[in-house]
Amino acid sequence: MTQVALISPYELGRQPFGLAEPARWLDDAGFHVRCCDLAIERLPADALAAADMIAIYLPMHTATRIAFEVLPKIRALAPRAVLCAYGLYAPVNARGLARLGVDTVIGGEYEPHLLALAERVRAGEPRPALGVVNDTSRIAFRTPLRDPLPSLDRYAGLMMPDGTSRPLGFAEASRGCKHLCRHCPVVPVYEGRFRVVPVDVVVADVAQQVAMGARHISFGDPDFLNGPTHALRVARALHDAFPQLTYDATVKIEHIVRYPGHVETLAGTGCLFLISAVESIDDRILARLAKGHTARDFERAVAITRAAGLHLTPTFVPFTPWTTIEGYRALLERLTELRLVESVPAVQLSIRLLVPAGSHLFEIDGFERLVETFDDDMLGYPWRHPDPAVDALQARIQTLAEAAADRAEPRRAAFERIWSCAHEALGDEPPALPDDVGVPVPMHSEPWYCCAEPTSSQLAAV
Ligand code: SF4
Repeated sequence: MTQVALISPYELGRQPFGLAEPARWLDDAGFHVRCCDLAIERLPADALAAADMIAIYLPMHTATRIAFEVLPKIRALAPRAVLCAYGLYAPVNARGLARLGVDTVIGGEYEPHLLALAERVRAGEPRPALGVVNDTSRIAFRTPLRDPLPSLDRYAGLMMPDGTSRPLGFAEASRGCKHLCRHCPVVPVYEGRFRVVPVDVVVADVAQQVAMGARHISFGDPDFLNGPTHALRVARALHDAFPQLTYDATVKIEHIVRYPGHVETLAGTGCLFLISAVESIDDRILARLAKGHTARDFERAVAITRAAGLHLTPTFVPFTPWTTIEGYRALLERLTELRLVESVPAVQLSIRLLVPAGSHLFEIDGFERLVETFDDDMLGYPWRHPDPAVDALQARIQTLAEAAADRAEPRRAAFERIWSCAHEALGDEPPALPDDVGVPVPMHSEPWYCCAEPTSSQLAAV
């Protein structure tokens, strides 16, 4: 039987839909499928040596950086296998992947193309390759095949403020996005399109994860409210089927502000918190990123989610070529005023703007003068801030954030260090944090982030 190995370098500590869905397509067509999640397992040398085709899943920057470390090892273990990379970050990194021996690169809705490639391998075509495919056409999703993946108890969990935890499942109700934020990696692939996973498929996928022990589902859609009618159908159907199940989803600030009634519906169907890419509280930076919201909208979104009984988990890109140290400190102050300190892991306060190949940031007048030439190792265009003190501050915050993650430091304590660091960078004595900077919130036990550089321990593990 033709053997296909699907490999995930990293998926934020969650069991990857991006392996389970193609596994179903390949299994249905009679292929022997082996899945390997490098966040949990070592490379399976025997399975790779026996594989006829190996496909590695690249949904984000961190995963792609890890993949570039591991691909030479895969090639050495499986010199005769057809090698493919797929997912959001595959097409924009096609050149570098080719250098590492990858024959086929697939972006967008990848399942039919993975299947087509496997069929060619089975037909005995000599070293078939599809080249670079970026296809966002609608596909007929099937219920993902999760059996070949590690069990859910080996993945991240949901940690509740009372100290209990819940096994976490991971589902996707859509892919792509209808928005065109300039810094977003979804945009070069989907260019304003999104594709929905049918409600019955989402419910069946969640049902199998509930049967495996999941008590909370994290939705990985780039934006859960891109198609509000679809999203509300999914939410209601899940709540009808599993009234005790809770979930979280990512929703952009613009949608929270536009659809406060939908936010209430989400809260009433088991949603515990919304993750939202706030990125900045500087309206000039938000305009450059074409985020579609303002700092004032962020405040409105905090009020709307709280009124609905939900937590808001904001994410940020605090370091950009336009960041000032005063602006960075203002962000920290705003988080204390909005009582969000417990809602933000330290890594979020260290993120540096990533400029991948194909980035729409180059639409900004003069942006090309801010960046250096593409760096094949970091898989992006390096940039240096015009004020070296900002880059120095970012490096210090990143060190603090990595140490906080290693020690599993409470968020308030990590924030306090960052708070001191930002004040000291301006030559000021750091004032004491107010007592009430927010309440502990439900959170995933894996705090890392899709645009963060992998840590040395992540790289060492592969
Ligand atoms: S709304 Fe989110 S997913 Fe959509 S383009 Fe903007 S940043 Fe990307």
